[in-house]
Amino acid sequence: MPELPEVETIARTLLPQVQDHCIRAVSVLCPRVLQTGASLLPQLAGGRVARVFRRGKLLLFSVDCAQNNGTLFLVFHLKMTGRFFMHPADSPGLKHTRMIIDMTDGGRLFFDDARTFGFCRVMRPEDMDNWPYWATLGPEPLDMDAGQLAARLTAVFRGRNTAVKAVLLDQKTVAGIGNIYADESLFQASIPPDARAGDVSKISELAEALQSILRKSIAECGSSIRDYRDALGNAGAFQNSFAVYGRKGQLCLRCGAPLQNARVAGRGTTFCGRCQK
Ligand SMILES: [Zn+2]
Repeated sequence: MPELPEVETIARTLLPQVQDHCIRAVSVLCPRVLQTGASLLPQLAGGRVARVFRRGKLLLFSVDCAQNNGTLFLVFHLKMTGRFFMHPADSPGLKHTRMIIDMTDGGRLFFDDARTFGFCRVMRPEDMDNWPYWATLGPEPLDMDAGQLAARLTAVFRGRNTAVKAVLLDQKTVAGIGNIYADESLFQASIPPDARAGDVSKISELAEALQSILRKSIAECGSSIRDYRDALGNAGAFQNSFAVYGRKGQLCLRCGAPLQNARVAGRGTTFCGRCQK
């Protein structure tokens, strides 16, 4: 699943392709992909894409609509396999194309999703806070300094019996962390993934690890495992820097012991039993 660095990369590669361009029409090829806002779709025609940005794992288009002088958000969650690619005029939808945003300049932006777990919501900005997922989304881990992030984690972890990895994956803690960046940051901070969150003492190390790993991954355009691509079709490179994720049975880069694998928070988790304690 694309996490913070991958969605950030998609937003950055999409922005120059659509910013200040106008939408001619939005077509929904797979109705269940559109979670809400079908009645707002016609208002997007003639609207100008002002911004494409990320919040947590969500990708948002902010569209200034000509028809009512208001703004509408097209909000996408890419889940497992969602991706965007701009095609030339008259290109037919592909096997996994779920939505098409036709631009007035002729470009056709496809939202493709093989597994169809991804979704789109068309929403007025003033309705966003009525959406529980949005309203409870934790702060952005890169919008604060390491000390502020450590304070946030300290406050959320306090007294919690849950595994620290589960708390990191909870989007209410901080936004945008998934399996890859949870495993990598817990390894870098030498914290066992199944430690009780309330018992974790290396919170400053964890905050610094999270920030440095997320920044490094963004600089390398994210991690390409399975079929993640940015909005230009390019793969990221951060998968080449994984210390633990996907390396079960291989040797720990720090101590040389074989890396272990367990289910933590219902997810496959790779860690070093010797370094992470
Ligand atoms: Zn080790």
